[in-house]
Amino acid sequence: MHELSIAQNILSIVDNTASQNNASIVNSIELEIGTFSGVEIDALEFALETLMQNSKLRDTQLTIDIIQGKGLCNECGNDFEMASMYAGCGNCSSNSVSILQGQELRVKAINVD
Ligand SMILES: [Zn+2]
Repeated sequence: MHELSIAQNILSIVDNTASQNNASIVNSIELEIGTFSGVEIDALEFALETLMQNSKLRDTQLTIDIIQGKGLCNECGNDFEMASMYAGCGNCSSNSVSILQGQELRVKAINVD
């Protein structure tokens, strides 16, 4: 499963950060995931929670910030929320759209003690 390997990746970043900071407790993890990241957010959350339950992160608070996809129309300058990566401009129907946000898949913050 794609999401399981992403979850393992995220938790190894968390592990590395904790050991670099000589931290024994990870209080919280905050992730940013865009609606265009290609990740099934529910599945990722489930995978993370399952992995965390069976590790020293079982008391760590997990927050996932979902970044709504947004685009900027190259024709009329309209910026708008995109339902899909291939959505056209709602204002002028142009398909020449630059994606402003929504492709994020990153660890935003790790809080350790
Ligand atoms: Zn437009």
